[in-house]
Amino acid sequence: MPNLESPLATALSQLRRAIDQLNLSENDWNTLSTPRRVLEVAVPLRRDDGRVEMYKGYRVQYSTTRGPAKGGVRFHQDIDLDETVALAMLMTWKCALTNLPYGGAKGGVAVNPHTLSITENERLTRRYTSEILPLIGPERDIPAPDVGTDERNMAWMMDTYSVNAGYSVPGVVTGKPIVLGGSLGRTSATGDGVAIAVREALKIKGINPEGATVAIQGFGKVGYWAAVALENMGLKVVAVSDVKGGVTGFNKISDLHRYAQENGTLIGAPGTESITNTELLHLPVDVLVPAALADAITESSAVGIRAKIVVEGANAPTTPGGDAILNDKGVLVVPDILANSGGVIVSYFEWVQDKQNYFWSADEVKENLNSILMRSITEVAEHSAAHQVNWRESANMIGVSRVAQAHRLRGLYP
Ligand code: NAD
Repeated sequence: MPNLESPLATALSQLRRAIDQLNLSENDWNTLSTPRRVLEVAVPLRRDDGRVEMYKGYRVQYSTTRGPAKGGVRFHQDIDLDETVALAMLMTWKCALTNLPYGGAKGGVAVNPHTLSITENERLTRRYTSEILPLIGPERDIPAPDVGTDERNMAWMMDTYSVNAGYSVPGVVTGKPIVLGGSLGRTSATGDGVAIAVREALKIKGINPEGATVAIQGFGKVGYWAAVALENMGLKVVAVSDVKGGVTGFNKISDLHRYAQENGTLIGAPGTESITNTELLHLPVDVLVPAALADAITESSAVGIRAKIVVEGANAPTTPGGDAILNDKGVLVVPDILANSGGVIVSYFEWVQDKQNYFWSADEVKENLNSILMRSITEVAEHSAAHQVNWRESANMIGVSRVAQAHRLRGLYP
């Protein structure tokens, strides 16, 4: 039985609720609550000083019913199989909600990437790729960056796969460098999507984006690019944080980013005051964007939240207890599978461009991202109003029902 506050317990309880709200059968629950394929591997790493260490690696293909599996690769010391299954499940509903022709997957290695040199990181990435090689491929399962990995890891994954295939296979991963078949706009896509979700949520709450305030937990690939996009929309980003803590009182995100790049921390940036991650969550802002890890908003931390809108940049940042409190307070929560879907949407564009060997302009990527995300946001909002459910329930119901329908139409083999 999974731990009740674990991301897997959260994901399963949300699935159970969606199944009940949709009046689906126990057969549907049995099928949809079980990951399709789970691989655990040992990843040996030769450190630069000659020591050999072993790390656990995972790849979970939660579903391949609507198309190839798709999902990120995380390098973080705390990941385990249960969390990887949970994140792969969320990818499944996310791809269905946004109507991308994918199932859902997730993977990673239980390692702290900050303890690795670049050469160690490369060896670990290549060995992990080689261990999961039988599962991945442009028609099978397409990894992408997640926490602790970036376009450099994707380049090594693409190269390792291609060397084994004997020819270049850019479509095996997304989030690659542009020169290797990456897409314009992929680096900022998840943050851009978060900003679009914030813009639409502000409209619903009748708040003018010009000067509206936002606090962002997490200053990585999602948090940083969301901050840039929100600043460009006229919002005031009043606080950001990373694993070491947060800051307020800065003027421009670009200055703060430069300081963080040079110093490895936000703390001490000129003209700023330090705050804790919990203080950031409790600031009196219009919008709160959790964009770090799971379980940031819990039963205890939700009580002090004063934001009117929560837009989930991270995956599974809110526990069911935290969610219930936000609901009671009337906070509009834009759920992860909608709010951070910009990343997988532009990953899809990258895969399509790689398949066609025809590359789009940055404007085309932006326009298509906006139109797919707006379609999903409108669907979630209308479904929520029609069925008197909140946005998380609405998004889950739409995603889950599409996967259930695909299962029914394909039938059960044999
Ligand atoms: P990242 O590794 O680039 O950045 C993570 C950030 O979170 C860093 O700033 C880190 O310091 C901070 N952090 C880590 N632990 C923290 C803690 N305990 N408290 C506060 N901050 C902490 O990762 P990312 O790609 O930005 O991913 C962030 C979240 O967004 C994850 O939940 C990820 O699954 C989700 N996500 C990412 C993408 C993507 O395209 N990268 C897409 C969809 C969802």
